[in-house]
Amino acid sequence: MADKKYLERKILNLIDEEAVIKLAADLIKFPSENPPGNLKEITDYVCNYLSENNIEYKIKEAEKGWPIIIAEMEGKEPGKTLILNGHLDVVPAGDKSKWEVEPFSGEVRGEYLHGRGASDMKAGAAGIIAAFKAASQLEDLPGKLILMLVPDEETGGHLGSGWIVKEEDFTADGCLIAEPSKQDPTIGQKGSCWLKLVTRGIPGHGSLSPAVKGNAILEMNRAVEALYQIWEEDWEMPKEIEEILEISKDYLRENKSTPGLERILDHVTVNVGIINGGDKVNKIPDYCEAEIDMRLPFGVKTEEILAWIKNKFKEEGIKAEIESLRWNSEANYTLPDEEIVRSVVNCAERFSGEKSRAMFQWASSDARYFREKGIATIQFGPAELDGIHSYNEKVKVKEVKDYAKMYGAIIVDFLAQ
Ligand SMILES: [Zn+2]
Repeated sequence: MADKKYLERKILNLIDEEAVIKLAADLIKFPSENPPGNLKEITDYVCNYLSENNIEYKIKEAEKGWPIIIAEMEGKEPGKTLILNGHLDVVPAGDKSKWEVEPFSGEVRGEYLHGRGASDMKAGAAGIIAAFKAASQLEDLPGKLILMLVPDEETGGHLGSGWIVKEEDFTADGCLIAEPSKQDPTIGQKGSCWLKLVTRGIPGHGSLSPAVKGNAILEMNRAVEALYQIWEEDWEMPKEIEEILEISKDYLRENKSTPGLERILDHVTVNVGIINGGDKVNKIPDYCEAEIDMRLPFGVKTEEILAWIKNKFKEEGIKAEIESLRWNSEANYTLPDEEIVRSVVNCAERFSGEKSRAMFQWASSDARYFREKGIATIQFGPAELDGIHSYNEKVKVKEVKDYAKMYGAIIVDFLAQ
């Protein structure tokens, strides 16, 4: 088997930095906003790119209009399997007048590449595509490499990673998702529990309230306040994650603008995002509904949360119906001693000369689908965390280049072990 150092030198030479920037900028130019999920043009572009570089691929679709691109590369010798995953959809740009640079320009201005998806995650996607291409030109790399470019990550991943992992029955020794992380990769994500609450009242003339009871909005107000008390509840975390949890909390403690922010990691967060009730000012409303986003800490099951809520409502005499919304998942993680984690952390430290800490994240991602299949999964990618899902998203040009190179080095380190 070829020497690892030699292979690394070779793959780094094969990654053309300027070509990576052009690829990332081109990807940003396609407004693949989800919703609604305009993926045809960007998919055609990537497929063309792969063809031009003699890379075979196939397209799979859970539903029409939601294409998944898969390319597989088998080494000369058998070995481990590594999945490189990225999503090509982006959240909508929103009010374009709030952007300093046109969101789908892919413009390089100063030291930044600008646009919706620059950090989340077209720079990362360009990096793994470039690294895969370089790996395909190495004759002596053992094992198997799978490139998987998916849609639907921003709306839950059911039609993207979630579907394809089951459909193709993928197994692998590791999965690297090029989601924005910067120097500290993420190896665990909290769970999600999205609910709709419904309260019902007794319709009546507004002039009789509050002598006459039965206002559904007031009842919802009580329900939401009761629900927010879950934030005070302490939950028991699994022993094996104690250390990593502390590292992740330290990271959040560095955020001085929100003292106590680290609590989000081992507590249930709750946000009432939408509320609708009543239809006329002088009527006692008989209907109100609210949509709630709760995030579950590690080791806490959805059933426990639902039981807590039902019990709370019962205790306080609140009458609210609870419906489950589409997005539900349990917290999931990969332990730091997995090979893919060590490969990524070592590489991040070697290339930057700075410490890299694998840690947990409070939001959820496609990583859970791979972990459900028993695949050790890590997220590592270039990022300017400020503009993500907001206005003026951007990424440092230098980082886009550096991460593409690091992906190349990680592929070699992991497969040639
Ligand atoms: Zn993302």
